[in-house]
Amino acid sequence: MNKFSFKYYKKMLKKAISCGFTISSFENFDKKKKKTIILRHDIDYSLKGILEFAKIENDLGVTSTYFFRVHSSKYNPFSQDCYYILNYLKNLNHEIGLHFDSSYFSEIFKLDPISVFNKEKIILETIIDKKIKSVSEHYDIYCNIFNIQKLDSQINIKKLKIQNYAYDKKFVIDMKYISDSNGNWREGDILENLNFKRLQVLTHPELWFDKVQFIDYLTHQKDD
Ligand SMILES: [Zn+2]
Repeated sequence: MNKFSFKYYKKMLKKAISCGFTISSFENFDKKKKKTIILRHDIDYSLKGILEFAKIENDLGVTSTYFFRVHSSKYNPFSQDCYYILNYLKNLNHEIGLHFDSSYFSEIFKLDPISVFNKEKIILETIIDKKIKSVSEHYDIYCNIFNIQKLDSQINIKKLKIQNYAYDKKFVIDMKYISDSNGNWREGDILENLNFKRLQVLTHPELWFDKVQFIDYLTHQKDD
């Protein structure tokens, strides 16, 4: 089976549930549960795959957190498509979080990273008409090229007054953190990590597709 197909995603979640895991968004995370998986989705460049993921999770009775950017040059959170998706997620009780770009954005334009962060948060909150409780940082390729550090190494992240910071010690050190970044489960996928009791699983829905979307994805990449 294609390990980046929606079918395989569903298979992994089903297996985790049958092994006794409670699967949830950041906001619904209950530390009292013995076996837990937090599902995190970073929406980097494309809205592809979000509806499929959201439906699969809802069909299985679980929630997850979808982190959206406001600075992406590839999608606009206030476009019709995205607005529809945001409402769809809200109706299924999935959480919407902020995938912030504050570190490199403030570096480029010589701005205060905290004020950039707060602006991003207010914009997304205004669009979804709801307070943002959870955030994750977008680490762009430019951050590597220009050696721009993550926000938590520039400022005390507590100043942001956020309930859940995805890179908080309790979510990445006290839990096994696995990711499908660049289409590669470097430390194995969900099925290969069910020996851990607590997991934060980061996926990028745009990387998951069926055959037709695969061709589409390659075309899209060529256009960039
Ligand atoms: Zn990202």
